[in-house]
Amino acid sequence: MTATLTGGPDLQQARRILTEIPGPRSRDLAERRNAALPAGLASGAGVYIAAAGGGVVVDVDGNSFIDLGSGIAVTTVGNAAPAVVSRAGSQLAQYTHTCFLNVPYEPYIEVAERLNALTPGDHQKRTALFSTGAEAVENAVKYARAYTGRDAVVVFDHAFHGRSLLTMTMTAKNQPYKHGFGPFAPEVYRAPMAYPYRWPSGPENCAAEAFDLFTTLIDAQIGADQVACVVVEPIQGEGGFIVPAEGFLQKVADFCRERGILVVADEVQTGIARTGAWFACEHEDLVPDLITTAKGLGGGLPLAAVTGRAEIMDAAHAGGIGGTYAGNPVACAAALGVFDEIEQNGLIERARAIGEVIVAELRSIAATTGLIGEIRGRGAMIAVELIKPGTREPNKEAVAALAKHCHDNGVLTLTAGTFGNVLRFLPPLTITDELLVDAFGVIRDGFAAL
Ligand SMILES: *Cc1c(COP(=O)(O)O)cnc(C)c1O
Repeated sequence: MTATLTGGPDLQQARRILTEIPGPRSRDLAERRNAALPAGLASGAGVYIAAAGGGVVVDVDGNSFIDLGSGIAVTTVGNAAPAVVSRAGSQLAQYTHTCFLNVPYEPYIEVAERLNALTPGDHQKRTALFSTGAEAVENAVKYARAYTGRDAVVVFDHAFHGRSLLTMTMTAKNQPYKHGFGPFAPEVYRAPMAYPYRWPSGPENCAAEAFDLFTTLIDAQIGADQVACVVVEPIQGEGGFIVPAEGFLQKVADFCRERGILVVADEVQTGIARTGAWFACEHEDLVPDLITTAKGLGGGLPLAAVTGRAEIMDAAHAGGIGGTYAGNPVACAAALGVFDEIEQNGLIERARAIGEVIVAELRSIAATTGLIGEIRGRGAMIAVELIKPGTREPNKEAVAALAKHCHDNGVLTLTAGTFGNVLRFLPPLTITDELLVDAFGVIRDGFAAL
């Protein structure tokens, strides 16, 4: 029965557990997987999907889970969203691939036009498309190096930029992303992030002191005229939804502008309506020189982009940038469907409203437990950092126990954080308030059981 289940918003919007978790069909698939796939390809959930849409994921045993992860911030407009399915479906039937470097096509141009118009800043822009977030970040660095003629790249503590050689190097966390995979790419430098909750001298000193350390790194240690770009997530994703101390990003951007250093905003996780704005940079009036997008852009199909100042994007020579699948026409059509869904269904406003519901639920839970150190994030990108009561010590065990409790009771969550002690919430913007409240009831019970 589940094999023919159709996804999308018509799927029944309810949490429903029919079998033990994982159920028999998921366990069969797990056995086949163990025999066919390498051990290191881990999955968070133990259940296998049959269909998804709205705010739920239905597994192969008919269990219905509330989705608080969106496939890591990808299905922002909902899984199998109608405009994505119809646009990508028509495109599939027309042509699936030519390679844009070989025979070009209109959907690519249309996505570029939309991103040029939507991204922050009213300067002339250009967009190049790719398939994955890591590829977008890697190419942003190529553009920055080509334009500035400089080598060095500055990134931050707790950063995540991908899993390719360069972006793995730019990523901060050793386990699981880097361990044993070196040697790493040269000319990548790391500055402290203005992380208010964990700033040694207190959150009130965070922006100013972090900025001092940043300027020392660039002016005294690397040499400003060696630095091509600073790459920063306006809200750090895998790092634990760290919102930089207010004013920090602006100071960094001003400093960089004075020295001819480009600012690259990595909005692969935060972009495309997720935080209650098209881009998280807008919350701080930040206008980056280059901006990378992926995850939410393709509505589940692999599409990524670098959008930036025309003169920077034009600096790379012909043939130097691209890829066989980069800007695949079906993925471009899907992205146009994503823009339709966001605009026609008011999903930016919905992201803000979802954030308000989640924060209210978490505050009420926080009043009953000593485990919550901080609630943070913006829009439909909210996290809780868990600590050992009465301390600021990271509580990774509590996060693991909560994630398991949620999974066993029909709620899919994601963890994050350099210390593994963050539970993050990235629901599709098509989730109902009823599902959200039900999901946080499960989470509340999970906290009570700890
Ligand atoms: C996920 C992510 C990436 C990498 O994207 P992939 O599509 O997995 O290569 C890069 N930067 C940020 C901020 C991300 O969240």
